[in-house]
Amino acid sequence: MNSDRTHTADPMERALALADEAARMGEVPVGAVIVRDSDGSVVGEGYNRRETDRDPTAHAEIAAIRQAAQILGGWRLSGCTMYVTLEPCPMCRGAAVNARLDRVIYGASDTSQGSFEVSFDGGYMADRCKETIKLFFKRRRKMGKIRLVEAKTDDQFRRIAAIADEIWHDYFPLIIGEDQTDYMVYLFCSFDAMKEKAATEDYIYYFIKADGEDVGYTAIRTDGDRLFLSKLYLYKEHRGRKYAKEVMEILSAYAREHGLRAVWLTVNKHNDLAIASYEAMGFVRIGEGKSFIGNGFYMDDYYYELDVTKAE
Ligand SMILES: [Zn+2]
Repeated sequence: MNSDRTHTADPMERALALADEAARMGEVPVGAVIVRDSDGSVVGEGYNRRETDRDPTAHAEIAAIRQAAQILGGWRLSGCTMYVTLEPCPMCRGAAVNARLDRVIYGASDTSQGSFEVSFDGGYMADRCKETIKLFFKRRRKMGKIRLVEAKTDDQFRRIAAIADEIWHDYFPLIIGEDQTDYMVYLFCSFDAMKEKAATEDYIYYFIKADGEDVGYTAIRTDGDRLFLSKLYLYKEHRGRKYAKEVMEILSAYAREHGLRAVWLTVNKHNDLAIASYEAMGFVRIGEGKSFIGNGFYMDDYYYELDVTKAE
């Protein structure tokens, strides 16, 4: 923010930089800057944070308008111009009207809407603005639908625990019985258990997200020269959609980037679905074993490994 300095660069340049910031966070890249016309100073900035904030109204323009109102000490932004990289949606047009902005200048066109009392001028630095959006979607298409978001806050660990509880109780009682499912959820997937494992055993927990929606979770840790895949669970309605394969591609890339030669995992001998799916992804059975986990329960598992050194 440089509210009291004269702004020399084109405000759209700054809006584009803000759009890049959004893209880095996996958000659709839209940036907005509000300039006071009398002295050209920037009084508000924002970028799209819908996914990050889980807020359908967290558009770049809204953030910039809110900041400008704070900076200028009132909600009336008359005498100001907003620069935004993408044509504002109806909500943001409405907000611009309510804020009494004099002008909105946008870059790339979106589905056209009729204008209100604010003058909306499109096509300004349109090529650059369009390119930002095009690049983002091109890159995202290449990446597939799935993103992994690491759990860091207590709130995130609580949400992963809730996801685990639901998926495990839906899936495992048929394989290992209700009692052992309860016990294993408590032992491995409770909030306390996961926090402990993350803090002392270097486990990393991720939300598996498809188009921003939680579809499951996964947990990994580095184990010598291999990546141990501790958990990979998807909600019932999201199984069989190749999401597991996409997650495995991301984890294989992670393993390669960290100089590891393989991903390995354990799977219950009676978990036919998971075994079939791992084998289809190229995992090879390398052993088996029983591990006792207390309370008279044990896990009777196969060990599987996926060589990640050849695939690219
Ligand atoms: Zn909007």
